Amino acid sequence: MNISFQYANRSNTSVLLKIDGVLNNQTVCFLVDAGEGVDIDSLIDEDKNEYLTGVLLTHLHLDHYSTLGENLRDGAKIYTSEENERILDTVLSEANSNAEQNFDRQSIRSAVTPIADSVTIGNNLTITPVPAGHTPGATAFYLEFDTGNGTETILITGDFTRRKVAGYPGLSLHDTDTLILTGATSNDFRDSITSAVDNALQQGVSGSPTLVTASGLNCVHFSYLLGHAVKRSSQSLQVNIVGQAAKLYDALSYDVPNVRAIQQYDPAEVVEAGCITVSGPDIPNSGGSKLLFDEIRDDPNAGLIQLISSNRSEIAESRCTTNQYVLVNHPSMETIENTVELLDPKQVVVTHQTGDGLERYRDQFSTIVWAPKSNKTFNLYEDGKWSPPHWVSDGVIKKFSNDSQTVSLSAVQPSSVSFERTDVDLEEEGIYPNRLTQLSEHDSQNNKYSTTASPEPGPESAPISPETGQSPSGKEVRTDGAAAQPATEPVDTGNTPGGIEQTLRDIESSLDSIEGKLESRSEIRAKAVHVDSETVVLRTVSAEEMPDVGESVVLQRLTE
Ligand SMILES: [Zn+2]
Ligand SMILES: [Zn+2]
Repeated sequence: MNISFQYANRSNTSVLLKIDGVLNNQTVCFLVDAGEGVDIDSLIDEDKNEYLTGVLLTHLHLDHYSTLGENLRDGAKIYTSEENERILDTVLSEANSNAEQNFDRQSIRSAVTPIADSVTIGNNLTITPVPAGHTPGATAFYLEFDTGNGTETILITGDFTRRKVAGYPGLSLHDTDTLILTGATSNDFRDSITSAVDNALQQGVSGSPTLVTASGLNCVHFSYLLGHAVKRSSQSLQVNIVGQAAKLYDALSYDVPNVRAIQQYDPAEVVEAGCITVSGPDIPNSGGSKLLFDEIRDDPNAGLIQLISSNRSEIAESRCTTNQYVLVNHPSMETIENTVELLDPKQVVVTHQTGDGLERYRDQFSTIVWAPKSNKTFNLYEDGKWSPPHWVSDGVIKKFSNDSQTVSLSAVQPSSVSFERTDVDLEEEGIYPNRLTQLSEHDSQNNKYSTTASPEPGPESAPISPETGQSPSGKEVRTDGAAAQPATEPVDTGNTPGGIEQTLRDIESSLDSIEGKLESRSEIRAKAVHVDSETVVLRTVSAEEMPDVGESVVLQRLTE
């Protein structure tokens, strides 16, 4: 048996595996994801009896499926999880309308082969999808080869998190000989998601019509978190997930408290006081989120919260309060290191990284690492053993050959292979529960997170305000126009300098936007949206909304 791999596109989000010894007289080829720029014709050679057996589709982000249609041939199947299969067609139709794609949905539908349990190719190769976190439905693949001399294994992570995602489990760990690992990392997801949820809750509870725009799957994920966070706060607040995002929500059979899925909607009716409306796409200049944004853009009392996946977006001109959060749900580098350490594979193949980002992985783990800056074909397994890259040092190879003599000791108890959603746990989803503003005195006492009801709101639970000053009564005064950001470096080890820098940048841009609004006015009207013994959270309002100001409050910047 021989197994080789090759990067299949420039961003290395896609990889081609070629396997001899599974089917007679042909080389079985698997394309792991079909991201931008994959051209299967340039990668396989029918004259050498190489055929595309299947695409292993890990999840439904465009950088992993954008060339799915054009790379199907030889009757290849699209192997994926049942969850991905349930939402694939809606995702493709959304991509066709918003992302200017042109998927032939019919031919893709007929190639999709969801794997409920596992599938066997030939007599000796078994493929099992296992949960991977990252997005609702995302799957990793566990490949087991019977070599005649025992079983060899490959775990392909795809994009993953160890965190739960909208109820789905994080990456399922399996003892593996070779780990094909996504090297994309993100160190500030927890900060961003906590701030975004908290901001939406505060705006919603203050009575502002609130619109959240995000990509389809992020809409589902965010609505799940919001609905449960509302429940936890004991407030009555309606979360509407609308349009295509509602189709995804329904296709995955979600039934989250306080969340209503509305596939067909009237923009004027779903964005209203007492509601948080969630819709795609993330940039509100097309599709459903544009229609909804048009309803609130001139309303200074309304709020837009944009959840974007990169820094590419400008904020549209508007009079409503606008906040942006970059949400990239990848594991931190620490989690990646920890995962490799736990799995202790004989070798790691790094994907989804290029250039220096790829090269830095070469010395990252105490095992053999494939991170070539070339798209040539490399042999992973030949003549009955896993073969190290020719460029690694003798010392490492020595360790490698020692290791390869020891039988894998099942250090890792295989986690569940079930995609079943389990009970909600906001902390396992990445939320810092203590940082969610205490919105109500009636926080359920038996809630497992009711520790927020501590008498002293510490810095972790308090939002940082864009404007901080003293009220005449000496109370700390906050305006929440730019919403809560974590005040201090959290105790959680997932936080890193990158996260803090991002937070500081967020605070800075919040300050800028508030400053612009304040400088043009001599008097600021504000409504108290939250008051306790230590903190007053204010929301700036228009003169029309609150014509009579009884007692004035002086807002003063402490720092420039
Ligand atoms: Zn992804
Ligand atoms: Zn990706």
